[in-house]
Formats: sequence, C-alpha cells, structure tokens
Amino acid sequence: MLVSVVPFEEEHYKVLSTLENENELDIWNDIHRNDSVHVMFNRTKSSWLMPLFETLHMKPELMFNDVQQLLDQEEAVFRAQARSGSPRGIQDSFYSYTQLSDWLNQMAAAYPQLAKLQSIGKTYENRDIWLIKLTSNSGAATKKTAFLDFGIHAREWISPATGAYIINELLTKYASGGDAKTILDSWELHIVPVLNPDGYEYSHTRDRMWRKNRKVVSGTCVGVDLNRNFGYKWNTGGSSSSACADTFHGGSPMSENEAKAMENYMTPRQWTTYLTFHSYGQWWFTNWGYTTVDPPQYALLKQKSAIGANAIKSVNGRSYTIGSSAQILYVASGGSEDWTRGTLNILHSYCLELPPTGGTGFIAPVSEIKKTGAETYVGVVAFLKSF
Ligand SMILES: [Zn+2]
Repeated sequence: MLVSVVPFEEEHYKVLSTLENENELDIWNDIHRNDSVHVMFNRTKSSWLMPLFETLHMKPELMFNDVQQLLDQEEAVFRAQARSGSPRGIQDSFYSYTQLSDWLNQMAAAYPQLAKLQSIGKTYENRDIWLIKLTSNSGAATKKTAFLDFGIHAREWISPATGAYIINELLTKYASGGDAKTILDSWELHIVPVLNPDGYEYSHTRDRMWRKNRKVVSGTCVGVDLNRNFGYKWNTGGSSSSACADTFHGGSPMSENEAKAMENYMTPRQWTTYLTFHSYGQWWFTNWGYTTVDPPQYALLKQKSAIGANAIKSVNGRSYTIGSSAQILYVASGGSEDWTRGTLNILHSYCLELPPTGGTGFIAPVSEIKKTGAETYVGVVAFLKSF
C-alpha cells in the first residue's frame, strides 16, 4: 500500500530513514520537511506501521491500498500497445532501453549535422551508456556547454522520457528556427538520456520499483544508489552503508561504472552548467545536498532556478519549489550535482525533480510524457537562454 505521512521534526526523519534502511518501507518521493512523503509498504505491515505513524503524529493517510493494481494497469496499457502492432512514438510510450538506443541511433543518423552519438562507457551488465551531443555548425564560434543527464534512478521513467522529448524537439525543430535554433547555435548540449541502463532495463522487465544499478554487491544484495556514489563529500550523511538498502552508497566513492563514465567524460572539459533530472517532486534544486549550509552565490543560483521554474509554470501551471536540496529535503551526500559543483567547480549545477507530485507517482500515465516533456523543454530553454 501507498501511504502519505508528514515529517514535522528530526525524530520523524530518523524514523523514516531507519525504516527505509531496514527495508521495512520504500520512500517514493524524497523525505522533505513539513510536507507529505509517500511511503510504500506491504499491507501486512500496516498493523504496526500505521499505529506508529499515528503515535508520532505524522498524519498517515492512505493513498492507494493496492499498488500492484496500479502496476497491473500500467502493464495492461503496454500489452495493448504491443498488441495493436503499430509502432508507438517516443512521446507515446515509455521506451525500453533497447528501443531508446535504437531511437537515438536513428536520430543521430537522420540529423548528422546536429547530433553525434557515442558510448561513454559500459555498465556492469555491459550495456552502453549513450551520450548524444547536440549543436549546430553555425552561430557562435565558441559555444557554451551543458551536460544533462536523465534516468540515474531506474524507476523514474518520466526522466528518460523527458530527455528524449528535449532531444526530439531540438533536432526536429532546428530547421524551422525559433528556440531550437537559438539554443543549438549558441550551445553544445551533451545529453545522457539514461545514465543507469541496467537498472532501467530491470525496472521494465522485473521490478518496476527498482532504483539502483544492478551490480552484484554481495550474495544477496544487488545494486548501488548511483546518486549516493559520487565522490564529493561521499558518505557524509543521508546514504546507507548497508548493501541491501535503496540508498546504498557503494564500497568507495565513484566505484560505479556509470559514475566513472561521467567522470572520464566531464573532467577534461569545461562546463557552463550541469542539470540532472529525477522524479518526482516539482523541485528545482541548487547545491548543496550534503549540508544545509548555503552554497556560494546562493542568491544567484536561486535567481537562475526561478527563471527555469517560472517558464515551466507558464506551460501547464505547475509550480516548482526552488532552493538547496538539503534545506528543502534532508541531507543526502554523494549526489551527482554536489560532485559537479564541489569537484568540477561548475557553479551552475542543478537537480530537477520532475512531476507529477501526486496521484500515482512513478507510475505516471503515458500522457505525462508530452505534458512533462513540453513544460520541461520550455523551462530548460529559458534557463539556457539566461546565460
Ligand atoms: Zn531520483
């Protein structure tokens, strides 16, 4: 079942993170202060978990009694799509890793003047980590550079779908001018549509709620939380040293192929900005994740975030909250955006948590691809144009 609770004080946070580390429950959105946190647990546990939340005054409210039913409905849509035999476009279906790989190759072949596709490394299960570089041959002599990654957490399917939406918009609309031309004439965009291919594939084929990568850590535990594995202030809070936990930070900083692939690619280059896309929450986060101390130039970072968030809101009216992730949520160390800021010194490093915030969470309907894709595209364009 899926239940909403509200952590009002430090004690509540500790209870939730302890229960998560012991695999008694699964936190869907991040633990954030004074606002509802969605936790999933087996119905058999409700006899002790619900009274515990009541006793602690965490306002437990039932959201879905049967999450499996949601998963079955989602599965039924895919089966119906497959049965119909007609191919579904990238904006009408949550593509598998293989479908997404094929699509990226097709796009790179169709737009050779604008797109270059390369593999920046291999996963534990030997899948390619694709990076597509988008830029035009005209415009500025020296272009600004952005690194965007999607799908670091496997079950956050709206993230890779949004990445693909943005790639599709820029490539198909460049010739007609407008924003796509403005961006590709002044920027090099280096985009990783799925940073965690193994986990993403596993979430499609075996366990829809899978979050980590698929490295075999010990006999019974699989997977490292890639967004706790990055090497700046690694293992300094808000991550787990228990290999079975969903927030396991790995055996050492940058131990994972996916993090290393990013490190090898990003370190020798100069970057204007870094954006990483998760779901869900409707937040545009600045640094830091590992500490609640204000990041340097916090006012400027919030100003930039607001440009993006306001543009997003103008499309469908959905509001984002902006600010430091540790201040809005709780401390979490080893995140990619702390590493790009702390180690690579990219001042403009941000983390977005895409919609939707309510309803079915990760199990978003297919219609969310166009809705979230369209508004996020507008937000990213406005943000980039502000440089
Ligand atoms: Zn995430």
